[in-house]
Amino acid sequence: MIHDSPFKALDTTRRSLDSGPAIAADPLATLAALPRVQLAPLPTPLQRADRLGRQLGAEIWIKRDDIGSIGLAGNKVRKLEFALGEALSSGCDSVVTCGAAQSNHARATATAAAALGLRSVIVMRGREPGGTPTGNLLLDRLVGTEIRFTGTESWTELNAAVTEVASELEAEGHKPYAMPTGCSTPVGVLGFVAAYCELLRQLGDLGVDAWRVYHASTSGGTHAGLLLGETLAERGPSPYGFDVGRLYPDMATHIAGLATDAARLLGSSLSFGPEEIEIDESQIGSRYGAFTDQASAAIRLAARLEGVLFDPVYSGKALAGLVACARESPGPVVIWHTGGAQALFADGFAASLLQES
Ligand SMILES: *Cc1c(COP(=O)(O)O)cnc(C)c1O
Repeated sequence: MIHDSPFKALDTTRRSLDSGPAIAADPLATLAALPRVQLAPLPTPLQRADRLGRQLGAEIWIKRDDIGSIGLAGNKVRKLEFALGEALSSGCDSVVTCGAAQSNHARATATAAAALGLRSVIVMRGREPGGTPTGNLLLDRLVGTEIRFTGTESWTELNAAVTEVASELEAEGHKPYAMPTGCSTPVGVLGFVAAYCELLRQLGDLGVDAWRVYHASTSGGTHAGLLLGETLAERGPSPYGFDVGRLYPDMATHIAGLATDAARLLGSSLSFGPEEIEIDESQIGSRYGAFTDQASAAIRLAARLEGVLFDPVYSGKALAGLVACARESPGPVVIWHTGGAQALFADGFAASLLQES
């Protein structure tokens, strides 16, 4: 079964699913044996945020996936460890993916490709912005990825363009590995199953019994991986996502499908339904990437109280969600800092960030 997403045409997704193992006795042992490349300094720190916690009336822990090199930081790197592990083990020599001009996934893919000696092509949403590139787009240019602006705003069309470029590379004699936006394929999701296990080990060592893990969500892989990790481990905090993009009309069904397909790759017959997905739309603002006063205030709060930089598109909106509900927490909470600080340096955000309302 292929999960119901506009990306189902991608060959890599289908190949991974077809080659999944038969029902395995220990899905986490299966996970540990899968091909993986090392791209991130793991484990990332789990840091108690005392001053922020006192201010918000809850015990708050920050999972610092924002820590890493400037190009290779954030949640996409975890997914890429497994996706590019699969690419290399199947002999691919190039990667093709897509994203918006300030896409963290595009930047992480481009940098990872440079680190691994792979050719990379990024198919970009919309038109090329004028002027000197800033933020993630600057980093994409620096690492020398091939960028193709499509002019389209449609994620479905963008994905079709990825398939076209992959065919083009194939015709040139390359062996490309195609990824949808956000690397939210079942293979990519496995990065967050491993991440959840990493968090559980850290919480166990610290003796912290957290009840929720908050995070930002757009393409759904982070949420799906955390949920599958929690279900396989049969313990730990429940993932609670803030949808910041509305990329999918039915995000819960999309995430449930991804988690089910990722379980199959691990030889597990677990299956998930949309009713199991805790996804909250209260922080999107007017649209994906649109600035909200709540995120801006939350970003300043964490920066000033903890010296931790959240971003305006994703993690800052999740933090704003936590600010809104922290006081009701019955126990310690974790906020997964999924990265994205590169966007702080993109045009358009600087002025709003410093505007105290
Ligand atoms: C992509 C991204 C997310 C969302 O993760 P998904 O797995 O795509 O839902 C959250 N935070 C940051 C910084 C991201 O770049």
